[in-house]
Amino acid sequence: MNNELTKVSKNRDYDLGFVPTMGALHRGHLELVKRASTENQSVVVSIFVNPNQFNNKEDLEKYPRTIENDIKVLENISNCIVFIPNKHEIYPDDDNFQSIDLQGMDTILEGKYRPGHFQGVVHVIHNFFKLIRPTRAYFGQKDFQQLAIIKKSTHIFNFPTHIITCKTVRDNSGLAKSSRNLRLSAAEKRDAVIIFKTLIFIKKNRKYCKTPKELKIQAMNFFLKGKLKLEYIEICESKSLEIVENQWAENMTASIAAYCGEVRLIDNMEI
Ligand code: AMP
Repeated sequence: MNNELTKVSKNRDYDLGFVPTMGALHRGHLELVKRASTENQSVVVSIFVNPNQFNNKEDLEKYPRTIENDIKVLENISNCIVFIPNKHEIYPDDDNFQSIDLQGMDTILEGKYRPGHFQGVVHVIHNFFKLIRPTRAYFGQKDFQQLAIIKKSTHIFNFPTHIITCKTVRDNSGLAKSSRNLRLSAAEKRDAVIIFKTLIFIKKNRKYCKTPKELKIQAMNFFLKGKLKLEYIEICESKSLEIVENQWAENMTASIAAYCGEVRLIDNMEI
């Protein structure tokens, strides 16, 4: 099957970009779409709130949905095809997806707190890639663990799609754009900036600490001056996602997950 996929994709005589989203589109999504639109003849933007990647029913129910506005925004991009599938189109009865061994990449960081989340992500992206056969697919650095896992799974499944990384888009305050921000009050948005400030703190203070562990402890103390409820702060090797504690690695990313009221937010930064 994989050989066939490669053949069909090679035979397409135009480049097709793909931007998978769960809707409630913001400037972060739009940067991905604009880039895909300029780098390919056409771009497919999917809007699908994937039930398989939610381990919490309430989180799925409360996920923001602004479909009419999303369509309006995408109408301005001339070579954009909006794809709003139903569950059956993505998970047909003859779905032959088989889960893969992600060698622990799916059970650390986010995976530790959201069991099954990344297998759900890998499944949906696998099925989308099979349907769309994109030349290039665009993902945000904002979800850096997801990006690393998609790069790995695309390689394992032997999909010919190029995975393109796009920078995190932020508000002027530093708060990373997220669909979930729609659920925050103005005051909560101000409180949530502590996540970005802590990431900057980590980046700046790296040179003063002997070990990543020491830096992490200082960062936790800094973060706890704010009002959010911390789930984790971790420093990991950027590609393998292996958590570093006693020794520095060459490329490292700091990541934070925290609750602002009822809303769970994540962010990360290369340090
Ligand atoms: P989502 O709709 O949250 O599943 O996100 C769809 C895509 O947009 C994913 O590849 C995300 O990483 C990306 N994305 C979400 N927020 C941002 C942001 N603030 N900056 C850049 N990319 C983002």
